[in-house]
Amino acid sequence: RLRDWQGALREQFPIIASNPHLAYLDSAATTQKPQAVLDTVTHYLTTSNANTGRGGYPWANSTTVRLEQAAELVKGFLGDPRPESSTVEFVSGASQGLRAVAMDWLADRLADGDEIIVPFADHKANLEPWLEVRGRLLRRGTRITVHPLPVEEESGDYDYDALAALVNDRTRFAAVTHVHHVYGGDMGVARIRSILGPDIPICLDAAQSAGRMPLSMAELDVDFAVFSGHKTMALPGVGAVWARNRRGPEFVAGGWRGTPNTTGIVSLEAALNWLSAAGLPDVHRWTVMLAARLAGRLAELGDVELLGCRQCPRENIVTFRHRRLHAGELGSILAANGIMVRADEQLHPSPGGAVRVSLHIYNTPEEVERLVAVLGRT
Ligand code: PMP
Repeated sequence: RLRDWQGALREQFPIIASNPHLAYLDSAATTQKPQAVLDTVTHYLTTSNANTGRGGYPWANSTTVRLEQAAELVKGFLGDPRPESSTVEFVSGASQGLRAVAMDWLADRLADGDEIIVPFADHKANLEPWLEVRGRLLRRGTRITVHPLPVEEESGDYDYDALAALVNDRTRFAAVTHVHHVYGGDMGVARIRSILGPDIPICLDAAQSAGRMPLSMAELDVDFAVFSGHKTMALPGVGAVWARNRRGPEFVAGGWRGTPNTTGIVSLEAALNWLSAAGLPDVHRWTVMLAARLAGRLAELGDVELLGCRQCPRENIVTFRHRRLHAGELGSILAANGIMVRADEQLHPSPGGAVRVSLHIYNTPEEVERLVAVLGRT
C-alpha cells in the first residue's frame, strides 16, 4: 500500500520523474518541487500577481488575503493549538528566522547576569545569531552567559543530564534543533522542555523536520519555531517564524514593512497543502524506513563508519565516513554514477570529511540499493 502511494507521489515531481537514471539523495540541502507547487506559482503570476498592502484593486487585495491565509495555514501545519494567540512572520528562510528571533526578540529581553543555552554542534544558523546577541549586549555593557547545549562527542546526541545541571534561575532562553542536519537524529525536544520546566522560552530550529514529519507545537511545547520553504517543497527565499502568545519578533527588512516574497509565500502555501494532502505521517514513515534500511546496509560495509544517531531515533538522514576515501572523492564517484549526496570536509570534523545521504518522499529503496552497490564496489 505504502509503495503504491509513494510511486504516485514520486510521479508528481517532474525533475525526478524525468531523470530516472539519477538519484537525488540531498533533500536536507533542498527539496525538489511537486508539479502542484509549480502550477500554483505559475497560476498566481499569470493571473493575479501584485504587491500587498497597497493598491486597493483586486490583484493587490487578493494577494494580501492570500498572505494572511498562508500565515494561518502555517499555524495549522505546525499543529498550533492556539492559532488565535500566535503569530507567523514570513522571512527569507531559517537562517533569517533564527536571526530575527535573536536580534528582534531575545536581545531586548536579557539583563546583566542572564544565561542562555544554545547548541554548539548543530547548524551554524542556530548558533551565530545567539553569539551575536551576546556581542550586541556586551557593547551596551550587559554581560550574559551563553552555555553550549551539551552534546555527547561520540554520538552527536544532546547530553540531557549535563543540560539538567546547567539550568538555574538565571536561565532565560534555550535554542534547540528538532532533527540534526548531519546526524539525522530527533533531538528530543519534549525531553528538553521537561528539563527546562514550563517557563523558559525555547526556540526550535525545525529546518530539517518541517515538511517531512507531522509537527505539533502542542506536543513539542516550544515558544518559537523556524523553518525554510525550500526544504519543504516550496521555492527558495521564503521561510516562517512562528511564535506563540503573540510575542513574535516584529520584523524585518523585506517583511511586512517592505515587499514580502509574495511568490515564495504562495509557493509555500501550495507546498504545505500538497504535503498535508500527501499525508505527513506516511511521508515520515517512508523516509524513516528508507533511512533505517540504508543505515542497516551501510553497517554491513567494512569501509563505512556511520556517524551519530546512537541514541536519538534516526530520521531521514544518514551520515558516514569512509575509512579509505575522502568524502570529496567519494562524492565524485557517486556523482559519476548519477547519485547526488552532500560530501565534503565541512560537514563533520572526522578526518577526510563525511558523506550525508538525506531522503524524502520521492526516494525509493532501489535508489538506496544503488548507492550501497556503488559503495560496495568502490
Ligand atoms: N538549520 C538547520 C538544521 C539546517 O539544516 C539549515 C539548512 N541547511 C538551516 C538551519 C538554515 O537554513 P537556510 O539555509 O534555508 O536558511
